[in-house]
Amino acid sequence: MADSFFFIPDLRIFSYGATIGAGVLLWILEGVIPFFSARNSRARHARLNLSIAGINLLILLPSGILMAFMLDWSKNLWRGIGFLALHPAAEALMIILVIDMWMYAWHRINHETTFLWRFHSVHHSDAALDVTTSWRFHYMEILFSELLRLPIFMLLGAGIEHLLLYSLLMTPVIEFQHSNISIPPAMDRLVRIIVPTPMMHRLHHSRLRSEHDSNYGSLLSLWDRLFGSFLMKESLDGLHIGLDNESDTGKQRLFSLLQRPFRP
Ligand SMILES: [Zn+2]
Ligand SMILES: [Zn+2]
Repeated sequence: MADSFFFIPDLRIFSYGATIGAGVLLWILEGVIPFFSARNSRARHARLNLSIAGINLLILLPSGILMAFMLDWSKNLWRGIGFLALHPAAEALMIILVIDMWMYAWHRINHETTFLWRFHSVHHSDAALDVTTSWRFHYMEILFSELLRLPIFMLLGAGIEHLLLYSLLMTPVIEFQHSNISIPPAMDRLVRIIVPTPMMHRLHHSRLRSEHDSNYGSLLSLWDRLFGSFLMKESLDGLHIGLDNESDTGKQRLFSLLQRPFRP
């Protein structure tokens, strides 16, 4: 079934390539057409965020392998929506829609639950939003997310190819949302009909809770519109990115950020 639709020789390499390619392209564009100008040391900022990403890769590699194994194992026991005998493209589309809706709900729960916010606030504590912020997540947040996502994938009867296809589509969009690039307003309006744009996600990183409890979408902006959390402003003048009381440089060091959720 999968081979007939997932014709890409190695979806895994394609997915990693898109992530790295989009990341590098956006990083270059941020130097050419920045939205927030006069930034201090982009390289130092990137080093911190990519160090967090590197640690995540090391810690989470075993959970990724386990997830692939579990999906393979469960597909032999339970076909999920495979029982509907849909065309593989329609099946993949349904799985992607359900998973993206779950990602919306999961992100929203992270904002509404004090315990989960401890971990998610590491992402929001970045005062200089750019493409590298899309890699700045506490490893426990990713671990919780993957553990909760796994049973949903299994129930749907999704395979590793669906997981890879979703990440192939979603990761470049997450990088784009965080990027510090200036886009003509008309183009932003057009693009945000389908996917969340940097203008939307900058409001999500506002210090004001009334603004940062909005625009939770990962791949599609549809869920924010559907569930009443879509927020847009014509101008972002006066917007302060990050969280209050984070100006102490000691708080923005690698180990401090890793320990942050565990502090009283
Ligand atoms: Zn958030
Ligand atoms: Zn973000």
